[in-house]
Amino acid sequence: MKLKNFVSGQWTEGRGAGAALTDPVTGEELARASTDGVDYKAALEHARRAGGPALRKMSFAERAALIGKVADVLGVNKDKYYALALANSGNTKGDAAIDIEGGYGTLKYYSSIGKRLGDAKYLRDGGFEQFSKDDAFQAVHIRVPLEGVAVHINAFNFPSWGLWEKVAVAFLSGMPVLAKPATATALLSHAMVEDVVKAGVVPEGALSLVCGSAGDLLDHLDRRDAVAFTGSAETAAKLRSHPNVIKNSIRFNAEADSLNSSLLGPDAKADSPEFALFVREVHREMTIKAGQKCTAIRRAFVPRALADAAGDALAAAIAKTVVGNPRNETVRMGPIVDKAQQKNVLDALAALKREAKVVTGEGAFKPVDADPAKSAFVAPTLLRCDAPAEAKAVHEIEVFGPVSTLMPYDSPEQAFALAGRGGGSLVASVFTADDAFARAAVLGLGASHGRVMVIDDAVGKLQTGHGIVMPMCVHGGPGRAGGGEELGGLRGLRFYHQRLAVQGNKARMAALAAGAAEVGV
Ligand code: NAP
Repeated sequence: MKLKNFVSGQWTEGRGAGAALTDPVTGEELARASTDGVDYKAALEHARRAGGPALRKMSFAERAALIGKVADVLGVNKDKYYALALANSGNTKGDAAIDIEGGYGTLKYYSSIGKRLGDAKYLRDGGFEQFSKDDAFQAVHIRVPLEGVAVHINAFNFPSWGLWEKVAVAFLSGMPVLAKPATATALLSHAMVEDVVKAGVVPEGALSLVCGSAGDLLDHLDRRDAVAFTGSAETAAKLRSHPNVIKNSIRFNAEADSLNSSLLGPDAKADSPEFALFVREVHREMTIKAGQKCTAIRRAFVPRALADAAGDALAAAIAKTVVGNPRNETVRMGPIVDKAQQKNVLDALAALKREAKVVTGEGAFKPVDADPAKSAFVAPTLLRCDAPAEAKAVHEIEVFGPVSTLMPYDSPEQAFALAGRGGGSLVASVFTADDAFARAAVLGLGASHGRVMVIDDAVGKLQTGHGIVMPMCVHGGPGRAGGGEELGGLRGLRFYHQRLAVQGNKARMAALAAGAAEVGV
């Protein structure tokens, strides 16, 4: 099967053999994807000409209803999506739920908060500005939707969530989307978009999909468009420095890779609840989606006196994790997405091993119900680095798999500085019952992180997860993590709007402001 591309309102097949999409458990080829011959210039023009005006004509409440309808279409086809996530990504049911329910839930959330913006079609930003004693001449700031295309380039690990979390915000803003999922796992994105298109719930030109290489897509963007990219820091750097992106000052949001941290507070003891919660979270983050989450805990910092206890507890949890073919119901951790990515993980792991010793993960490893020669598994591996201040690779190399490094710290200030050595990260979690440490950690980690989660026993059961991106919270991080920001409820709309100051007659400014939705962020 060759996955078709949905551009200019039509499903078209790319030329040539295309790239193979495989089952990472059996190695079997599932489909091929090619964009060869896709006319990106025409696809963008179609979206700008047909999709944009159709969406901008709608009020926020109408766009919210549209987003709700997209979610409903996905809701009735979920079983099919779970099967595809298993086949093409090797997802366990729990892994697939994060991706599929995450995408569905984010659409539902934006449908719900969008409804509250009512009949407005643009946003107000702040209050009125007065220039002199006579207030007859004033200014107000508003945000209007961009008139181009939201180009979404996504990573392989979230073919559903990555697609819909971006579509939800762009649609609510009134922008048409051209989505390019990562080729390796495009099967699920393709099936979902196919269902939505078939259901006829989105206006002509509002949603386009390409499965395969981006080709010359970026050459045809102009100042009206915006690119939201998720993927590696290396690709982000390449795309944001594309000559056309620079020449036309095209908006570019990057969600890139990240060496996220988790910190156990100095108040913890081996038998305190926060210790157990920390161990559970690090283990969970190592094994969910086989560690293929941008937010996964790559570095776990503990007070030096607890390093042995934490290593033992994590090793015991890892030993109980059944790794193998997710079709077997006892399996808790699946494979890496494909053979190429498995090699990347093993190469990166080898680099870390020059600085850190293996606590667990080496030796004979046989995945359940899978042939190691054909499949793409990596054993969950815990490393330990006792001199993290002198180490380099553990802070700089993202192993995009089930690998985490345990490191002792000697003072809170040192722990925050070590977390910052990741060069800017998406998230840090802090496990403590001490208010003073919690506050110091938030302030000490804040400038180098997009999100900090503070966990104590009281919220141990309620917490949403270190690595789970909630649509009401901003997602993104400085530096290495891409320097971008998305989601965060209505804050996410900013990226797809142009803010302008409007100056004029007081009464006119008041009327203009009265027609806007006030987002208050
Ligand atoms: P990647 O290799 O950087 O690819 C990301 C996307 O960029 C894919 O759709 C890819 O298409 C596309 N791409 C690659 N080269 C391109 C080019 N020259 N022009 C236009 N598009 C191009 O990343 P990945 O391997 O898919 O994903 C893993 C990485 O993503 C990890 O580092 C992870 O940390 C990061 N990630 C970050 C977040 C976040 O929210 N911050 C979320 C998930 C993943 P092809 O697939 O066709 O090559």
